[in-house]
Amino acid sequence: MQWFHGVVKNGSVPQMSELVQKSLPVRLYSASTTAVHVLIASIDHWSKNLFAIVVSIAEMERRVAIIGAGMSGLVACKYLLQFGFKPVVFEADDGVGGLWRHTMESTKLQSTKLLYQFIDFPWPSSAKEDNPSHNQVLDYFNSYAQHFSLIPHIRFNSKVVDIDYVGGESNEEMKSWELSGWQVHKAEFVVLCIGKYSGFPNIPKFPPGQGPEVFDGKVMHSMDYSNLDNVSAAELIKGKRITVIGSMKSGLDLAAECANANGVKYPCTIIQRTAHWFFPDFNIWGVIAGYLYFNRFAELLVHKPGESFILSLWATLLTPLSWGIGKLVETALKWKLPRQKYGMVPNHNILQDLSTCLFAVFPDNFFDKLKEGSILIKKSQSFSFCKEGIIIDGEVKPLKSDIVFFATGYQGDEKIKRIFKSPLFQNYIIGRTTSTVPLYRYSHRWTNNSPSNSQLIGYAEGASNTFSSEMKSLWLAHFLDGNIEMPNIRQMVKEVKLWEDNLKQYGGKFYWKRCILHCGIWYHDQLCKDMKHNPKRKKGFFAELFEPYGHADYMGLTRK
Ligand SMILES: Cc1cc2nc3c(=O)[nH]c(=O)nc-3n(C[C@H](O)[C@H](O)[C@H](O)COP(=O)(O)OP(=O)(O)OC[C@H]3O[C@@H](n4cnc5c(N)ncnc54)[C@H](O)[C@@H]3O)c2cc1C
Repeated sequence: MQWFHGVVKNGSVPQMSELVQKSLPVRLYSASTTAVHVLIASIDHWSKNLFAIVVSIAEMERRVAIIGAGMSGLVACKYLLQFGFKPVVFEADDGVGGLWRHTMESTKLQSTKLLYQFIDFPWPSSAKEDNPSHNQVLDYFNSYAQHFSLIPHIRFNSKVVDIDYVGGESNEEMKSWELSGWQVHKAEFVVLCIGKYSGFPNIPKFPPGQGPEVFDGKVMHSMDYSNLDNVSAAELIKGKRITVIGSMKSGLDLAAECANANGVKYPCTIIQRTAHWFFPDFNIWGVIAGYLYFNRFAELLVHKPGESFILSLWATLLTPLSWGIGKLVETALKWKLPRQKYGMVPNHNILQDLSTCLFAVFPDNFFDKLKEGSILIKKSQSFSFCKEGIIIDGEVKPLKSDIVFFATGYQGDEKIKRIFKSPLFQNYIIGRTTSTVPLYRYSHRWTNNSPSNSQLIGYAEGASNTFSSEMKSLWLAHFLDGNIEMPNIRQMVKEVKLWEDNLKQYGGKFYWKRCILHCGIWYHDQLCKDMKHNPKRKKGFFAELFEPYGHADYMGLTRK
């Protein structure tokens, strides 16, 4: 924010030393007379009318720009309105719901609807299934937006193309930025709710002559497939020899759709690098997992960032028990499905997948499709393209394909980085290249000398992402309202490091997923304490220790 004095005005990027010298001790929403502006240049997606967004802290109007009207943007908007702010939500698409507007036909909620709901907005009785379809999820978010009158605060078809921090400019100067159709929008705080699973697909890199350019068939990312309407998607895959690179949720879902369309005549091949602990049916395991993993007793068995000596001792002493429970669950999962036969037994323990949110539910009848041969799985650490298809480790003959789908995930960090205009801030927001985006309380990004004016919601995941985004939104509303005492920057950095080390301890090489599932209650305890609410939400000692924690436990955390 205050770092970026003059960046828009003169077009040059100041050096860090210059920025620090110029930075001013502005506290958001304090009675500062310093004009600090946030500029978000934004483009109307459809009409190509350019406009931009600027905010003046001096104006003291409690205006907040939220980018994205997916689940996270909606819940952030709801709480900010409730706390008396004036949020404006900029949404690139023409409706709410984010990624649920662009899913494969077969996609349904993996979490049970009981887990995946907002604190004060239950699912309607018309949603009978435990795992509603993507259309039902979309309806649920639309009803939420209607119920809390969020729609008037959303500007649809408005893609924010960049954000910049500026300061001290006069109104005249700001008006001059509204050139060539650019508009300037004012906001005092920016909330990024732009999602992790869209926008920047992760595409593997290949040496020259070994990439998609030499292949005669079609190459697509699963994101592009999900963006197709159902009829076009069905036409695309019908009667084709398909190879799917990647065996995470989108890879398995895509393969299942191909198998449904083409049967054994044109089997779909999945190239798997690492197997993960997928569940056969989350409805059954959801209940058990709640008691095994989502209660305070389960969290006693793992180390938690910033824990006391006593808690650390407990976690160390109880590590064998945690290991034993993990083995029990792994055995049950192996017993329930013939994973061994199809090479789908992971080399790592289940706690690693749970603490990185790298687990999911198999598509319906997935193992039947493996058995009948409409889906094949091949293990390979690397592959390259040739004219007829792809060549995998240890095989001479190409795997002949008409379409190769990359189900290889997304570059969430890149998406966050690219939304900032200044290269300086682009690098700053990401942090060290070996690390995750450094976020205090998993959502707040500070500047060099003060709490900043940006927050990321929907970036770190938990057992249920509605709950995870809702808690962060509540915290944000309290923070902006001045109810949260922020530590100094040194303490924030220390805290972020503690969480990152913990993720590395349990998540291993997958720590970058930023999942807080294995110590989610501990994390929410910190948020509750910040908001000056009692973190112990259950009635009675045994309930507190053994009952699973969920959204219902956090009712009443609002101030109003
Ligand atoms: C297939 C699939 C299934 C899932 N199932 C579950 C589940 O069962 N349980 C669970 O807890 N989680 C699940 N998730 C995780 C999911 O990410 C969250 O549940 C949640 O829907 C994400 O919401 P979001 O608002 O954070 O992001 P998104 O839904 O991605 O929304 C981001 C919004 O920001 C907008 N946007 C982005 N950039 C800009 C810009 N520059 N300007 C303007 N607008 C912009 C986008 O258009 C979009 O509307 C699933 C994810 C996927 C991909």
